[in-house]
Amino acid sequence: MAEAGAEDFDVIVLGGGGAGMSAAIHAADAGKRVALLEAGDRLGGSTALAGGVFYAAGTRAQRELGIKDSADAMYLDILGLNGDTVFKPALRRLCDEAAGAMEWLTSLGVEFPATRLSSPNGRSVPRSHEPVGFGMRIAECLDTALSQRPVDVVRRARAEKILLSETGNVRGVLVDGEPITCRAVVIATGGFGGDPAWVERMLPKARRPGSWVWHVGNKDNRGDGLRLAEECGAQIQGVDSGLLLATPNFHHDLEVLGPDWALVVNLNGERFTREDGAYWEIAEALEAQLDSRAFVIFDRTMFEGAKPHPRVLEALAAGVITVSWVPRMFEEQLAKGRIIEAASIEELSRVTGLPAKSLADTIARYNDAAHAGQDRQFGKGAASLKPIETPPFYAVEVRPAILTVTGGGVRVDAATRVCSASGQAIPGLFAAGETVGSLYGRHYAGTGYAIASSITFGRVAGQEAAAVCGR
Ligand SMILES: Cc1cc2nc3c(=O)[nH]c(=O)nc-3n(C[C@H](O)[C@H](O)[C@H](O)COP(=O)(O)OP(=O)(O)OC[C@H]3O[C@@H](n4cnc5c(N)ncnc54)[C@H](O)[C@@H]3O)c2cc1C
Repeated sequence: MAEAGAEDFDVIVLGGGGAGMSAAIHAADAGKRVALLEAGDRLGGSTALAGGVFYAAGTRAQRELGIKDSADAMYLDILGLNGDTVFKPALRRLCDEAAGAMEWLTSLGVEFPATRLSSPNGRSVPRSHEPVGFGMRIAECLDTALSQRPVDVVRRARAEKILLSETGNVRGVLVDGEPITCRAVVIATGGFGGDPAWVERMLPKARRPGSWVWHVGNKDNRGDGLRLAEECGAQIQGVDSGLLLATPNFHHDLEVLGPDWALVVNLNGERFTREDGAYWEIAEALEAQLDSRAFVIFDRTMFEGAKPHPRVLEALAAGVITVSWVPRMFEEQLAKGRIIEAASIEELSRVTGLPAKSLADTIARYNDAAHAGQDRQFGKGAASLKPIETPPFYAVEVRPAILTVTGGGVRVDAATRVCSASGQAIPGLFAAGETVGSLYGRHYAGTGYAIASSITFGRVAGQEAAAVCGR
């Protein structure tokens, strides 16, 4: 290792989103000389665009509501969902440290009120903590904390290459063709959704929704971290892991919640999920259908009575999103031919190409369930179970096409050290956040894991990178 102080910096952090800012703050607090390079002209990345929901167990908000929860319970829940696809040491660390990371954000000014705590799929105790001011507030508070430390923050600085010594140790970063030397690098460049070539390589499942696919995250997130790490010998893993949300493709605004009051059928005219389920569960179920395509079916009563989901009202009031599932939008899309109208179910099947008998049987069974107030097939809640019987009838195609979070990425160990395929750590190289992909396994485990992982492991990466720089 080079003599301390000979390099430009001790630690260089690449990327100024949630993970990168958390890492830079912790490395600076450990007394290291730190630079943070950000490709864009502002800090925040996808973190600033996010809902900011933070998944954690054993938190202050949970205690306030008298909810008994623990890191162990969170760990077992995720293991139950994702089994062998989980990298257990990292998951264990995430479960153990997420509540502390959230408390740290609170100390920086982010509020996570108990009133905004939820369990979006109702399967576990409430662990999804939504902050006041969403992800933007998290980014602002981190930015402020960063500005209070002696960290060199350089915007419009896209890291091009990580420089290694002959012995394979990190020795710097190339930016604009110029080397900047350091003793450790933290890669926190986010996911790869902004780069079609990486999407093609890492998310083959995104081919099925075809031209409908669009990336909702930060446009500068182009998989740079994966490329930079791979060039240093890191393993890239997690093909086909990532969240593609269902959409009727009416507009390019992130709309997480679909029409829980309607019926959804696949190309065989069959139901395959509870329509009032968690958005990621519906998206994953849709991915598994023929051609990853489905139709939302509803009748005139639903057409006229559709209201935005209560959970989107706040975002709507803030003008943050455009909603699809409301009468005004239906009229617009009907005129464009994006919504199919038919006088009978038979005609609806003809126009959509859905098998007539199967569709009629599915609707009859669904209507029986609605009248009985009980969905024995998928357990949809009675409040959203309405019969489809007033003509005209409508169908809208949906596909899993909004690329929100990418789940594949750079292999790391539980200390955020970047590793080769043989598990060998690359000396001085660390990575955290979406650039390492999903540490919780194949299936998205609920709202808030990505932010929890970025902040929790961003902190770990900053501390670990500082530690290898010596005194
Ligand atoms: C609309 C939306 C809503 C979401 N809501 C939630 C939610 O509620 N809860 C949740 O858990 N997750 C959510 N997510 C996912 C979550 O926001 C991200 O996974 C997480 O914020 C990623 O943090 P990060 O620090 O790894 O990356 P980012 O915050 O994206 O930061 C990466 C930064 O690296 C920069 N960069 C890229 N390449 C380079 C380079 N070569 N050199 C220097 N800088 C570079 C980028 O410009 C960017 O600023 C949401 C995502 C989106 C898009």
